[in-house]
Amino acid sequence: MQALTNRSKMVSNKQMTFLERLYLVSIFKGMLITISHFLKKKATISYPEKHRPISSVYRGQHVLKRDENGAERCTACGLCAVACPAEAITMVAAERKKGEENLYREEKYAAVYEINMLRCIYCGLCEEACPKEAIFLTDRIVPTEFERGDLVYGKDILVEPMEKSKRIDVSKRQTPDVLEFKTHSEYAHNQLWDPKKSLQTKKQSH
Ligand code: SF4
Ligand code: SF4
Repeated sequence: MQALTNRSKMVSNKQMTFLERLYLVSIFKGMLITISHFLKKKATISYPEKHRPISSVYRGQHVLKRDENGAERCTACGLCAVACPAEAITMVAAERKKGEENLYREEKYAAVYEINMLRCIYCGLCEEACPKEAIFLTDRIVPTEFERGDLVYGKDILVEPMEKSKRIDVSKRQTPDVLEFKTHSEYAHNQLWDPKKSLQTKKQSH
């Protein structure tokens, strides 16, 4: 049969000599290759003690951001879940009660918000889709787990801490292109949140 490529090799059926049957030359060659690798620079690193440098826009573990007053930005609009090609995001929306204004920025919030890290492909589409700048991917690496259930992250892991000193910095993701995009005030993403304006709109609609 004719070969499809020219990579095939003819196999020789020649009888091996006594010296060849001792395999000494082959063993010596193999040892030389092994020893030469000891002298070469290692291709691996001792993770997690050592980390490789990563891009400033590396897409790792998500964070749900709070606003400057500490209120959760997410309004459970569901756009991130719709945009997610892996169907990794689920949420349950709830209505903000009186006295919870300091916890949730708008009248609707996510009572439950979960990302299945086993499904996530870290594409970043949830970040792009979010009109409230509530979800960002960060340079934090998702650790491995023994149980599948431990990789379904809820709000306890995703929402950043209330303390300002412990907030997750996402400023590195504000590349020149992103900053330029934010100058376009016609996009809802870029309109400043004004709670008074929102209340007026609500009253007018009643
Ligand atoms: S990064 Fe992509 S796959 Fe992961 S949750 Fe966001 S949209 Fe879904
Ligand atoms: S993270 Fe953003 S897109 Fe997703 S539900 Fe919250 S506000 Fe909507």
